[in-house]
Amino acid sequence: MPEILVIAGDGVGPEVTREAVETLKVADKIHKIGFHFGEALAGGVAIDATGRPLPDETLEKARKADAVLLGAVGGPKWDDVPHDRRPERALLGLREKLGLYANLRPARIFESLLKSSPLKPEVARGADLLIVRELTGGIYFGKPKGIEILGDGSERGVNSMVYTTGEIERIARKAFDLARRRRKLVHSVDKANVLEVMELWRRTVIAVSKDYPDVTLRHMYVDNCSMQLIRDPRQFDVIVTGNLFGDILSDEAAMITGSIGMLPSASLGERGGLYEPVHGSAPDIAGQDKANPLAAILSAAMMLRFTFGRENAAALIEAAVDRVLDSGARTADIARAGDEVIGTHAMGERVRSAMKV
Ligand code: NAD
Repeated sequence: MPEILVIAGDGVGPEVTREAVETLKVADKIHKIGFHFGEALAGGVAIDATGRPLPDETLEKARKADAVLLGAVGGPKWDDVPHDRRPERALLGLREKLGLYANLRPARIFESLLKSSPLKPEVARGADLLIVRELTGGIYFGKPKGIEILGDGSERGVNSMVYTTGEIERIARKAFDLARRRRKLVHSVDKANVLEVMELWRRTVIAVSKDYPDVTLRHMYVDNCSMQLIRDPRQFDVIVTGNLFGDILSDEAAMITGSIGMLPSASLGERGGLYEPVHGSAPDIAGQDKANPLAAILSAAMMLRFTFGRENAAALIEAAVDRVLDSGARTADIARAGDEVIGTHAMGERVRSAMKV
């Protein structure tokens, strides 16, 4: 029986996760998948219950599950706990221990939300791209790193951007495989003109591309890519890049869509996956039925597609979200003057109704 572990977390996490789970249950019923749902604690609620942001029991359950659906972790209540025990450590721990090396962040413009995009409608319309970011290597993990005190009392800080052929190959394969299910275009984003590590990146991506003759590969320097994303986002299908560049470019691409409450994500390894909305725990609106559940619901759709290979069920949810937005329903974060504003649960209900018609 396919096993989904639900880690609702803190703040709006439980509110949006509940809507995603209910939506998965409807997809399950329609497509007769037979999901089993488990629950576990992580983040601030886990600190309160066990003293640790990622209890062993949670990790054990996550390892056994086929996929993990996470809400959000963190909040002001835990801002003063020591750095190594902060709620956000739970995310890093899960990614590391589950070997999740590929972070997928789609940025798709919804026609009915075109006005929320900071880009002109004629530039943003139809944008639909997927950023595949290497998540467990690069400058965030490379050694040497640290800050040393020099002889004259001043300091010297260092981080190292390190990639091995194996790390580049596996993320490149992931990107090419994903492109095959989309429009068959990969942009590999690097800084090969300046950094030796990126020269290896480019060479290795080219070598992997030989196994994917049906997918077009283009190369782009990261500085150019940051411009092109806002000049003409429609030119992109899949973007594959390293940890640091992906961190920055995925936030930039996110802005094209206009709302943080709409952005899903997936982190994948060799098996399983962690699915979560891009947003945090939004303490300012927690417990008020105001949060937009669509990022969590769209993360659930990604889970159906990428972990369970249920393209039809994923598309059913995504089409329902499109229909609900087309009908004018909005949570407060995506509403404009004159729109009908509904709450978290009502938005979830609308999506589920739209799946049944
Ligand atoms: P945030 O994403 O929680 O909130 C930023 C702004 O966006 C807030 O105004 C919030 O109300 C709004 N927002 C976020 N999600 C929304 C939704 N679904 N619907 C409507 N509005 C939404 O970022 P933050 O305020 O910087 O962080 C709050 C806490 O969340 C911190 O403790 C931070 O460390 C944590 N955090 C967790 C994650 C995660 O769990 N993946 C990610 C980012 C931040």
